[in-house]
Amino acid sequence: MNMKPQTAQTFPKPTRRLRLGMVGGGHGSLIGAVHASGARLSGRWDIVAGALSSNPERAHMSGRDWLIDSERCYVDFQDMARCEAQRQDGIDAVAIVTPNYLHAPVAHAFMEQGIHIISDKPLTAQPDEIAPLLDAYKASGVIYGVTYVYASHVMVRQAREMVLSGMIGEVRQVHVEYLQDWAINIGNTNFESDAAIPWRFDPERNGKSLTVADIGTHAEHLVRFVTNLEIEALRAEFYVTGASKSMEDTAFITLRLKEKATQNVSKTLPGTLIVSQAMAGAQCGLRIRVSGTKAGLEWFQEAPETLSYRPIGEPEQMISRGHGAGMHPSTERLVRMKRGHPEALSDAWANLYTELGVAIEAHRLGRSLPPELVAFPTIEDGVHGMYFVDAALRSSISQNWETLVPQNPEPFQNSDSF
Ligand code: NAD
Repeated sequence: MNMKPQTAQTFPKPTRRLRLGMVGGGHGSLIGAVHASGARLSGRWDIVAGALSSNPERAHMSGRDWLIDSERCYVDFQDMARCEAQRQDGIDAVAIVTPNYLHAPVAHAFMEQGIHIISDKPLTAQPDEIAPLLDAYKASGVIYGVTYVYASHVMVRQAREMVLSGMIGEVRQVHVEYLQDWAINIGNTNFESDAAIPWRFDPERNGKSLTVADIGTHAEHLVRFVTNLEIEALRAEFYVTGASKSMEDTAFITLRLKEKATQNVSKTLPGTLIVSQAMAGAQCGLRIRVSGTKAGLEWFQEAPETLSYRPIGEPEQMISRGHGAGMHPSTERLVRMKRGHPEALSDAWANLYTELGVAIEAHRLGRSLPPELVAFPTIEDGVHGMYFVDAALRSSISQNWETLVPQNPEPFQNSDSF
C-alpha cells in the first residue's frame, strides 16, 4: 500500500475549557451519559449546566450527580438559554439530547442567544421544521454540529482518506447496512411498558419514520462522508418484520449516487442501504463497503479498530488503527491510544467533541482554522439526512424512484453558506 508520508497537522491547544450545557440526557436516558463522557474525555469541555430531564426531580438528581451547581440545574430549557446567556461564565455550547421533536425548538432557543449547537440526530422530527431552522442558523452565526458519531472513528477517517486519495481507484458502487434487533418484540401493543420507548413510536414526536430516521441517517451520512458522493435519488421498500407497529422497522433502499462537483452530469453510481431494528441476532451492525476500479474497502463498527483493504488480485490487507504503518497522517491526530491498546465508540465521541471544541474555540477567539483540520458533521449533513428520510418515506408509498431535492429546494440553493 502506498500512502504518501506527510506531516500530521495537530489541533491548536485549548486556551480554556469550554463550558457545555445539556438539554435532555439525564438519568434514565440512553445517550446523554455517552455525550457527557465523550465531552469529558476530549479534555476540552466541562459540563456546567443542564435541563437534563422533562421530570424536574430527575433533572436535579442528574445535575447533582454530575456535580453541576444547583442554580444551573434548570427545569425549563427556555429559562436555561436566557439565564446562561446573561452569565459572565455562561455556556459556550448546548448539547441537545432530547426526543426528536424537541431538537429544533431547543436549537432555536439557544441560537437566539448566540450559543453554539451540538444536536443529536435526526436534525428535526418533521421536514417543515428545516427551513425555519436554517434561517435561524444563518442569522445567528453559531456553529451547529450534528452527532453522526461514527464518522469520528479513526478508521472511518482512514477509509475516507483512502477513497479520496484514489487508493481504490474510481468508486463504482457502495453498500451500507445498519442492523439491530431491539424492536423485534416491541410493537404497538407493548411499547408503553418501556418508559424510554413511547416517543419513538409516536409520529408527531419521533417523525414519520422509525428505523430509516434513527439509524438510516447514520448509514446515509457514512456513505456521503467516506465517498464524498451525494445521494441523488433512491428507491425504498419499508417493512415491519418484528412485532406489529405503525412505522417501519426494516427498509431496503437502492441508491443513485452522484459526484458533488458534477451534479449536472448524467453519470451516476449505484449503491444499497439496508437497515433493520428487527433483525434477530444483530447488535449494532453498521458496515460500509466501497468498491472501486482498483480495490475494495470494508469497515464494520463492531470491530472499529481495523479497515480491510482488498486490492484486486492481491492478498487482503488489514490496516489497524495507530501511528504509521499505512495510516494517513491526517487521521493520526485523532489517535489517542497506541496500536494494540483498543479504542472504541467512546473515543469516537471524544473525537467528535474534540473537533467541535477546536472549531468553537477558534470561533470564540476570532481565528480561522486550516481547511479540513476538522471534519465534524454539520447542520448541512443534518439537512441531507432529513431529505434522505423524506425521500425514503415518499418512495415507500410511490414504490418508485424519488429524488432527494425537496419540493421547496431553497435550503440547498445556498449550501455554500452552511
Ligand atoms: P431517551 O428517551 O432515552 O431520553 C430523552 C431524554 O430527554 C430524557 O432524559 C427526557 O427526560 C429528556 N427530555 C424530554 N423532554 C425534555 C425537556 N422538555 N427538557 C429537558 N429534557 C427533556 O432518548 P434517547 O434514546 O437518549 O435519544 C435522545 C436523542 O438522541 C434522540 O434524538 C436520538 O435519535 C438520539 N440518539 C443518538 C445516538 C447517536 O449515536 N448519535 C444514539 C442514541 C440516540
